Parts: sequence; structure tokens; C-alpha cells
Amino acid sequence: LSEARALLGELVSSASRAIVFTGAGISTESGIPDFRSPGGIWSRMEPIYFDDFLASEEARLEDWRRRFEMRKLFAEAVPNAAHRAIAGLVDSGIVSDVITQNIDGLHQRSGVPQERVIELHGNATSAACLDCGHGMGFDDAEALIEREARAPRCGICGGLVKARVINFGQAMPIDEMERAERAVRDCDLFLAIGSSLVVYPAAGFPLAAKAHGATLVIVNRDPTDQDDAADHVLRGSIGAMFEPLTVS
Ligand code: NAD
Ligand code: ZN
Repeated sequence: LSEARALLGELVSSASRAIVFTGAGISTESGIPDFRSPGGIWSRMEPIYFDDFLASEEARLEDWRRRFEMRKLFAEAVPNAAHRAIAGLVDSGIVSDVITQNIDGLHQRSGVPQERVIELHGNATSAACLDCGHGMGFDDAEALIEREARAPRCGICGGLVKARVINFGQAMPIDEMERAERAVRDCDLFLAIGSSLVVYPAAGFPLAAKAHGATLVIVNRDPTDQDDAADHVLRGSIGAMFEPLTVS
């Protein structure tokens, strides 16, 4: 562990423009289970595909039930040492952008300014109409479900309202994808932290960074799909690895 920490510190301090790319693994030490580890979310339930959300009232209600449950989990979670260390690196200007697959909002809550966070899969704190984009808070959505015993519809156009999270099969957010592509082109160090790197297109960014000449570092407990492409693979607890990097 101490060797990995030393190497990480060295790589970060010699970088001039680093990108941090995170997955569910960075938040497990904050009490939010990841997807693919034993006990992870997938071992307990099937994902809801976007087409099913569109087609089935039952799928919509199930999606909402899970959002409400996660809202509690996310609200109770506190950013951990790794979130804080990354916020410090952003603050000091070493890390230009934090690209995340997470929807828990913990990077922002650890102090990374919103404009430095690129949320590829959305954020599980609010909802919007799929047709006109009109926003709806979770509390209002919950009250509507209670009152009408059906998934909430938009008060403006009647369209389906959905949490602002990207489900499997749903199109990626265009702005975020473009921002991420730009950031990846310009970086000299790319840190992929806590992701199994199997969900595309997000998992394409580490290889894109490498193709643009960046040093690729993977920090993860288990092997990932892209370990072979990385310049360095650091195995272990993400919290422990980043603890000494805490700046504030
Ligand atoms: P994943 O579950 O596929 O992979 C997580 C990886 O993190 C695993 O390889 C695991 O070995 C590693 N890991 C877990 N805890 C660790 C720790 N403490 N230290 C070191 N390594 C650790 O997650 P993914 O690659 O992000 O892909 C899953 C998808 O799930 C994403 O699209 C994301 O949107 C979604 N998701 C998000 C959250 C969240 O917002 N916190 C939680 C679960 C799933
Ligand atoms: Zn609408």
C-alpha cells in the first residue's frame, strides 16, 4: 500500500493537467454499495432498461421506488477521504475535471465546484419531463404517485417524468459527453478510480485519454477490463490510497 501511495503521489505531483474518472467504487467507503461486487446492487436486482420505463407503468413505478430508496442512502452518505483528496486536487489546479459515472452527488458535496464535475449518468436528486424537460422535485413526484396511484406525468405537456439519471438503453447526455471528450483530449494524466470499466460509452474515456498521450492509471480493488492498457494499476482500498493526498 505504501508503495502504491508513493507512486500515486509522484504521478499526481508531476502532472500538469490531470483528469479524475470515477465509478461506484469510490463511494462504497461512504456506505453506498457498488454494482458488481458481491452484495452490490446488481446481485439484488435487475436494472430497469429505458425502453421498459417508456413501455410499462409497472417498470416506471419500480424505477421511482428505487429512486426514493436511493435518495435516502445518498442523503445519509458522507464524502470519504478519496472524495476529499480529489476535491483538494481540483482546488489546487492539478485536476481540471472530475468525470463521474456516479449519480450520488458526493463529488460536489466534497467541495468540487459543479462546473468541474461531469456527470455522465446524471444525478439522482431531481427529475424532469422526458418530452419538454420541465423539472419536478422528488417530493412532488412522490406526492403525485401517492395521490394518483400512477407514475407522475408532466404538469405542462403530460409527458412522462423521470429521474435525471441515465438508465441502460437511454441516450447519453450530449453536453456532458462533449465536455468529457474535450477534457480527455487535453489531459496528461488520467486516473480511473473505482470503476470496473465495462459500461460503455463511459468506459471508452480511459482508452481515449491514453490514445491522446496521457498516462493511464487505474485505482481499483478488483481487476478491470482495461488493466492491460494502463501504465499503472494500483490495487487496494481507494480511501486508504487517497488518504495521504488530502490537502485540506
Ligand atoms: P462497478 O460496480 O461496476 O465497479 C466498481 C469497482 O470498484 C469494482 O471493480 C470494485 O472492485 C471497486 N471497488 C469497490 N469498492 C472499492 C474500494 N473501497 N476500494 C477500491 N475499489 C473498490 O461500478 P461502475 O464501474 O461505476 O459501473 C456501474 C454503474 O453503476 C455506473 O454507471 C454508475 O452510474 C452506477 N452506480 C452508481 C453508484 C453511485 O452513484 N455511487 C452506485 C452504484 C452504481
Ligand atoms: Zn413536459
